[in-house]
Amino acid sequence: MIAKKALGLPLKGLRFAIKSGDTLVKAASTQASRFKTRFDTSNSIDNLPVAKRNYADKTVKIDTSEKGEIDIREFEFTKAPINWISAAILVATPIAAAVITPWYLLTHQVSAPVWGVFGAFMVWTGISITAGYHRLLSHRAYKAHPIVKNFLLLGSTLAVQGSAFDWVSGHRSHHRHVDDRLDDPYSAKRGFWFSHIGWMLRNYPSGKFDYKNIPDLTRDKTLQIQHKYYGLWVVALNVGMVAGIGWLLGDVWGTLLIAGLLRLVLTHHFTFFINSLCHMFGTRPYTDTNTARDNFFLAIFTWGEGYHNYHHFFQYDYRNGVKWWQYDPTKWLIAGLSKIGLTSELRTVDDTTIKHAEVQMQFKTAQQQIDTATASGIDIPHAMKNFQDRIKFEYEAFTKTVEEWQALKTKTIELKKTEFADRLHEVDDKLKHDYAKVEQKILEHNSNLKTAFRAIGTNKTTA
Ligand SMILES: [Zn+2]
Ligand SMILES: [Zn+2]
Repeated sequence: MIAKKALGLPLKGLRFAIKSGDTLVKAASTQASRFKTRFDTSNSIDNLPVAKRNYADKTVKIDTSEKGEIDIREFEFTKAPINWISAAILVATPIAAAVITPWYLLTHQVSAPVWGVFGAFMVWTGISITAGYHRLLSHRAYKAHPIVKNFLLLGSTLAVQGSAFDWVSGHRSHHRHVDDRLDDPYSAKRGFWFSHIGWMLRNYPSGKFDYKNIPDLTRDKTLQIQHKYYGLWVVALNVGMVAGIGWLLGDVWGTLLIAGLLRLVLTHHFTFFINSLCHMFGTRPYTDTNTARDNFFLAIFTWGEGYHNYHHFFQYDYRNGVKWWQYDPTKWLIAGLSKIGLTSELRTVDDTTIKHAEVQMQFKTAQQQIDTATASGIDIPHAMKNFQDRIKFEYEAFTKTVEEWQALKTKTIELKKTEFADRLHEVDDKLKHDYAKVEQKILEHNSNLKTAFRAIGTNKTTA
């Protein structure tokens, strides 16, 4: 129990997994295929030493496309025409803010209420993008009352990041094709500039959205209106509403500059950090199959979206900072609103699945350590030899636990299908107990790995 608490692993998630049969079926099959990809042996992998073979990275993509095709598509990137509206806004606003703001602050007095509106708008626009466009509309991670949905929609429109149709369609493509140079609209593989802002300055082929991936949004009347009159909405909110508030506060120009322009530029770039810096700097505790990173520092600027490695692996979770102590104000807002009935059906990934991903990554890190040590010479240090043996032993035990877990999931699905309703309660109790045992074992593997890493003087743990 103490270990469980220390690792931030309450049984809450487990209960969820047992309770919701449908989710479990989906989670089990996704997880099963994930395991399959990682654990199936292929010809090339069979040639590796046993310890390495078991947890070698089999996710390396082999590009089977024809070279000619790639060249043509790459060529389209080099001759992509400038997107004038987008470029004008994204180039002019930061320059104007950087030049006018210091001059204005030196020559004028900006009142506290104006700064208050600036702060309120920073929060409103920032959170609207993360809780609204991102977690609600792109990932359907929870359901929101129309009051919440519309409030977030207005905030997202005030943020000037495109209509919901464009934003969500692009974001779903990003998840689907993450890091693909040709199909990820803001691929980090094209460098910082492209993933941060460059992708919006020209009409790149990867930025042409056909809305086929947003059928749930294109049916929505409110979103249709937002899309159709997007330009009008943007001007009405950013100029009309901001100037109106300025007039009420007795400082139209100051409010337009601070709560309008400066706020707009800051919110823009804080959001853009998620596509650029969150794919460059930080740790990868859950997966290294893509460039997304977990970064506490970036989470501060991005309202909790800095835990991007977790998000890319478990995108339907309403939390990005999944540990209770991780800074994720968007998660707190969604959870808080659910207490008063304004949000519901918050989707989470069960703790065992999350822990499994972490332990899996620890094995990978261990293998990398062994590789580094063996690459330095045939005579590997004694400590490293012990470490290697221990990891091999631990990995075999872990594989068995995973098999047990898979079998349990299959059994759960079967039982839910065949058992009569009055017996389900009894069955649930038994399964709950079995799941608790598996969870305990995964926690033990986690702790054994930590000890093994400590023995060679490194602490590459991810818990
Ligand atoms: Zn990303
Ligand atoms: Zn996302």
